[in-house]
Amino acid sequence: MSSILFDVRSDTVTKPTPEMRKAMAEAEVGDDVYAEDPTVNRLQSEIAALFGKESALFVPSGVMGNQVAIAIHTQRSDEIIVESESHIFHYETAAPAIIAGVQMYCIPSEKGEISSSAIGEAIRPGDYYFPKTSLICIEQTHNRHGGTVLSMESIQDISSFASSKNLPLHCDGARIWNACAESGIAPHEYARHLDTLSVCLSKGLGAPAGSVFIGSKDQVDYARHWRKLLGGGMRQSGILAAAGLYALEHHRQHLKEDHEKARLFAKIILENTSCILANSSGMVETNILIIDCGQECDPISLKHECSKNGLEISSGRGQCLRAVFHRDISLADTTKAAMIFIESFERIMEQCS
Ligand SMILES: *Cc1c(COP(=O)(O)O)cnc(C)c1O
Repeated sequence: MSSILFDVRSDTVTKPTPEMRKAMAEAEVGDDVYAEDPTVNRLQSEIAALFGKESALFVPSGVMGNQVAIAIHTQRSDEIIVESESHIFHYETAAPAIIAGVQMYCIPSEKGEISSSAIGEAIRPGDYYFPKTSLICIEQTHNRHGGTVLSMESIQDISSFASSKNLPLHCDGARIWNACAESGIAPHEYARHLDTLSVCLSKGLGAPAGSVFIGSKDQVDYARHWRKLLGGGMRQSGILAAAGLYALEHHRQHLKEDHEKARLFAKIILENTSCILANSSGMVETNILIIDCGQECDPISLKHECSKNGLEISSGRGQCLRAVFHRDISLADTTKAAMIFIESFERIMEQCS
């Protein structure tokens, strides 16, 4: 049994570097439940400024960022519109039903871009026996579609339609940093079309924990109430916020390299195996790769074979596996990881024939 060489299960596996740990150790701290942690306050104001919004709130996780957003925008028995493959619908343990007390209406799309006409059809009429539609959520980049970048046109289309219907628009921007790196569009340019956002520091940015909810002063004040209700009020959390600040300053500019690694890995394995790229847009847009191993290959056996050979990879839907590239795997190691994948694939195909 070899120990892990390369881990591409997710960009959440990134570990704090010695420099980041130093910044954490040296962070000035205070009690953040009294809003007195200077490092948390600095992170919040820097992020608010980056996104061109009034205020921001440090929360323990991306799920909490999304759930406080849903809670502040809705009332019990409302309905929120989400994309069918969204993280909020698939991976947040039905939290909107439990926390805000709302149900989700899912709209399918090709690569995460729901159309304003589909949203128009989904909005409930005002009769008393319908739930009340009260929020629209989008996801940037879109995880289950394979890290797709929602276009500015799509966001503008949804945003202007949402305003015309007086509906707030929230963005699950766990990986909006990757969208910005790839499109060259600044965070505030995306945020201009959004009422609130939640962004993760613990994915490609490489911080050990933490997300940030972003919005107006009133929205953030209300979100603070919900964060406390959910048990997310932390005390000397400047130690964690320091990691986020460090990541913004030193890691953010390298995110595009993760996209290059994902493209390189895809190129090598697609040229050398019968696997097919299954990202919804047919391209590797950012750092997420969805690989269809084909009908003859058992993806679970392949995943185990890769693991035996030192490559940790995630399983996906059907015949698919998922690989996510990040700062803890170098470009050179990406080639080695691709070789492990190819050898593992060949071994599994031999066993099957
Ligand atoms: C990771 C992720 C989240 C939040 O996850 P946490 O593990 O709670 O930080 C939210 N949305 C998307 C699209 C994600 O990929």
